[in-house]
Amino acid sequence: MNLILVGPPGAGKGTQAERIQQDFGLPYFATGNILRAAVADGTDLGKQAKAFMDDGKLVPDELIIGVLLEALQSADAADGFLLDGFPRTIAQADALGEALGKVGRKITAVLLIDVPDEEVVRRLSGRRECAKNHHTYHVDFDPPKHEGVCDQDGSKLIQRDDDKPEVIKKRLVTYHEQTEPLVDYYEGRDLLRRFDGSRTPTEVHDHVRATIATLRLEDAI
Ligand code: AMP
Repeated sequence: MNLILVGPPGAGKGTQAERIQQDFGLPYFATGNILRAAVADGTDLGKQAKAFMDDGKLVPDELIIGVLLEALQSADAADGFLLDGFPRTIAQADALGEALGKVGRKITAVLLIDVPDEEVVRRLSGRRECAKNHHTYHVDFDPPKHEGVCDQDGSKLIQRDDDKPEVIKKRLVTYHEQTEPLVDYYEGRDLLRRFDGSRTPTEVHDHVRATIATLRLEDAI
């Protein structure tokens, strides 16, 4: 199972990814998390990526493609993967398809979780994330039991720099201009599956889980 999650920022990709991981035990690669860790560690990648991220822009393809393809070559990803936040451009999608093709693998499905822009703004401006393991909360819709503290691992909840309102708007523009073309790209390859991300996380999850279970069955036949 080689799965990709696509959708605007704040669509709930991270939330669904956590659940899909639990359901199917797929290794999860989120380029946003990889990049934030690189920024926090002060690596060369992090230093180069930070300004783009803080400005709501994509980091250049040549920076991120190598990092992701290397992660996919790890033993962890040998039997399948769940990608979140990659690919985000047609060039990234081409690079991924080519790299998989070289080793006789292919994408199983692309799961598009879609939500309207105004819902994205509402969600992201209240989003909080635990500093340690990226568990996510929302100050109004999904608050932790104790304010500012992760229910799951007790670490501090923080607001991502790019979840500030002025950056959210830029990230949406970036999504529509650079990432949304992937919808047609994967639809043309008959890989796209659509989910209504404005439903509750549990409703979206039920639908996603059923779809993946069917894909697995089809794969096994
Ligand atoms: P995310 O957590 O997926 O919203 O990613 C946070 C930020 O990391 C994005 O706004 C981009 O600046 C950067 N980023 C993450 N994934 C990619 C990617 N595949 N290509 C370019 N930039 C990315």
